[in-house]
Amino acid sequence: MAGDETGNRLRKEKERVEAEKERVRRQVEESARAGALELSSFDQHPADLASDLALREQMQGIFELFDRRVERVEQALERATAGICIRCGRPIERERLALLPETEYCARCARELEEGRL
Ligand SMILES: [Zn+2]
Repeated sequence: MAGDETGNRLRKEKERVEAEKERVRRQVEESARAGALELSSFDQHPADLASDLALREQMQGIFELFDRRVERVEQALERATAGICIRCGRPIERERLALLPETEYCARCARELEEGRL
């Protein structure tokens, strides 16, 4: 069944993104630990604290991107399972889902959106 194939692909994509996020998180933790060790051997310099904070904020942004990606894949997975166009509510063509698993629109709506006929 084409729908199953699409679902499997999206499930794999979700696993991949989650694994990637976990990998980055571990890397950050390790470098944070290494950084903490380094810092403890010196007097804590304000500049180090500032860059530490900037790094944390940067990482927060990266994690949010990962979360959004996972969310997007999850939503696509739900839709692919349902196979429903979010614009007109009609089923999305199977061939279309097989080609574009993350699509939110049926072929007709996608064409209309492309042509700017909103
Ligand atoms: Zn539609």
